[in-house]
Amino acid sequence: MTVFHNARIWSGKTFYDWLETNENGIIVNAGNGAPPENKQKVDLKGAFVIPGLHDSHIHVYSLGRTAFRLNLQGIKSLDELKVKLKQYADAHPEHQWIVGFGWDQDQFDDPIYPSKHDLDSVVPDRPVVLFRACHHIAVLNSLALSTIGIDLDTPNPPGGLIDRQDGVPTGILREDALRIITPYIEKMPDDIRELIFKKGLEICSAFGLTSVHTNDPKAWKIYKKIAENNDLPIRVFLTIPFRELDQEDSPNANEEIGLLKAKRVKLFADGSLGASTAALNDPYSDRSAKDAEGKGILIHSSEELIEMVKKIHMSGFIVETHAIGDRAAEQVLSAYNKLGLERQVLTHCQVLSPKAIELMKKSKTIANIQPAFILTDSYWANARVGDRIRWSYAWKTLLDQEIVCAGGSDSPIETANPLVGIHCAVFRKTNAFPNGWNNDERLSILEAISIYTFGGAFAVGEENKLGLLEPGYYADLTVLDTDIISNPDKLLNANVISTFIAGKEKYRLNS
Ligand SMILES: [Zn+2]
Repeated sequence: MTVFHNARIWSGKTFYDWLETNENGIIVNAGNGAPPENKQKVDLKGAFVIPGLHDSHIHVYSLGRTAFRLNLQGIKSLDELKVKLKQYADAHPEHQWIVGFGWDQDQFDDPIYPSKHDLDSVVPDRPVVLFRACHHIAVLNSLALSTIGIDLDTPNPPGGLIDRQDGVPTGILREDALRIITPYIEKMPDDIRELIFKKGLEICSAFGLTSVHTNDPKAWKIYKKIAENNDLPIRVFLTIPFRELDQEDSPNANEEIGLLKAKRVKLFADGSLGASTAALNDPYSDRSAKDAEGKGILIHSSEELIEMVKKIHMSGFIVETHAIGDRAAEQVLSAYNKLGLERQVLTHCQVLSPKAIELMKKSKTIANIQPAFILTDSYWANARVGDRIRWSYAWKTLLDQEIVCAGGSDSPIETANPLVGIHCAVFRKTNAFPNGWNNDERLSILEAISIYTFGGAFAVGEENKLGLLEPGYYADLTVLDTDIISNPDKLLNANVISTFIAGKEKYRLNS
């Protein structure tokens, strides 16, 4: 029996001064005033404690990999991109391919896409691929294009686009055209992959996360090894890609090893709003979509989608489908409804419609939302969707309809810091909208914390064990130096002091 005391503890329902756990790290008692005597004690030194934070949609492997790639986040011009590329290429002669990420032409002084010529002017002699912030678009130099076999005669691959000018590829590839690059840049021995996974987990743990719902391909075998060695610093709920269902080295539904558990299978219904490939019911208001109808791209027919959803469900997994546009959301939710499936997951939910919200309610679908997306998307979302903004990033509307929302980052798309996500949900302040963007959709601080705790637990079906600090729940704690409930304006300055999982300390600041 251990008593955690000398803290202000938000349980998700009420405040406590102390928690008592059993030998399995499960809370057996909680209260106020003097803690029980004659127990082993953990002194939290006046800290502020909330239930362990979940990230309900993240890519741990890609996050870990950012530490080993050229980071172009926040650059403000094409010239700056070139300078950074040159510096990186010079500093890393060991990389056969130069891989970067994070540029966003909407944040350039002159918002035009980079081209192969821009990259050739800096690095002509090694293949270069630079992913846009959304990871649905990349720019390649000429050597990269020829290395992967793209020339004048290459047709657009299914689900993808090769941008051309006068018939000549510009260097920009979109959506499934990016898959052509994968075999060239992703080949990595398992021991290096293990290091990358561990780096990603370490970053998450230091941000105060105790659970991640992560989408990583070919990951089970490596997570399993880390879990068997008792080296996971957080709970890992793995979402596997659809193509890995029933494959060798893939987990069974609910397979569990220590802090690792396989819960969901991922499908994609459309692209991204930033790349104007998210599927909308009506054309993009700024005519930015490149497809024939100007409404974005549905990846599957409704029949195909239903078959895939059915297959996942029959295998015992929860279905997690990426849907950003209202047409994609309606297609997915219709599939869930048609099959009579409840409590599946719709990830991103950026542009919805009254019909989509109705269908979500009916099927008790979980809205997996990414509040920190507004930091980037508020620059252009109004232009992309026009009046549909009423139903976009409309998280308060969802909660008012009693739709359970789970908060995630989609990191490395946005920062994995959950306090930034909570801040975005509460204040909706961005550089583009310093006084708040669509403030009717602000959440209260308690609502925002709840989507990253209870909502996360609910999205993996663990809401009877995780997400609250009440008797019967695991003592998964995020320990902060700041009372973020009384002072939500201090969210961005709050520090994570430590995390505990099932009562065991897993992270400590400066340790
Ligand atoms: Zn994602």
